[in-house]
Amino acid sequence: MNIKNHLLLQDDGTPVPFTQSPNMGKTLTPQYLVMHFTGGSSAKSSVAWLTNPKAKASAHFVIGRDGSITQLIPCNRVAWHAGISRWNGLIGMNNYSIGIELDNAGNVTKQADGKWRNALGVVVPASDVVELAHKNGGAVTGWQTYTSKQLESAIEVASTLMNFYKLREIIGHDDIAPGRKVDPGPAFPMEFFRGRVLGREESVYPQYITTTNLNIRAGAGVGFVTLTAKPLTKGTKLELLEQSGEWMRVNVVGKSDLEGWVNANYVKPV
Ligand SMILES: [Zn+2]
Repeated sequence: MNIKNHLLLQDDGTPVPFTQSPNMGKTLTPQYLVMHFTGGSSAKSSVAWLTNPKAKASAHFVIGRDGSITQLIPCNRVAWHAGISRWNGLIGMNNYSIGIELDNAGNVTKQADGKWRNALGVVVPASDVVELAHKNGGAVTGWQTYTSKQLESAIEVASTLMNFYKLREIIGHDDIAPGRKVDPGPAFPMEFFRGRVLGREESVYPQYITTTNLNIRAGAGVGFVTLTAKPLTKGTKLELLEQSGEWMRVNVVGKSDLEGWVNANYVKPV
């Protein structure tokens, strides 16, 4: 895949289907990729809704369960997918991100008739339901799984966007609006997805190791809580995600969930 004039093209140069949404803001220079589920009943109905002015919502892409891709907004214009949100000191992530909606009913509960339905009454076959708790809290509930065709499509789209726009990170709507949003939710294999997408990227993050036992913190300063009970041991491998003065936001290699801030005076490049 490729990008031309901020529109996604297939490998053979044909544009992916484009249905312009009027729900669009000003010029965008994207830095992040935000993953969502639609919570709807089909990609077609979600495209119809997200291109309806009444929705006051949109996304750059909708990816169906069959892997089909529809673009609704050029990638250099703001789409209305994130709402009230923040990440890494940025507020209002619509102004900083590309949004991908995956056709998925979201969280579903088992009804008296034995069928799994979401809040809108969309029925999901039991074979498509996993029962999990959300990482942000709450009880175990049902979630519709994503299809492999859909994930493969999304990986291709995400890789193309990450490379073309040099995006910093893939995040979930539930990362940037926790408490308010639960998508893409626990059925979305975020670590697998990131791994596959980043594995296709041309560039890799700069690698560092710690030169002493070193605390990893929730923010860029000693005032932030430490994220682990014990400091990272000397020689721990880190990937640099971003730098802010003397502080570096890093991913701890081999611990896919552990990201945080370390003091740059106590690491060295590999
Ligand atoms: Zn969302």
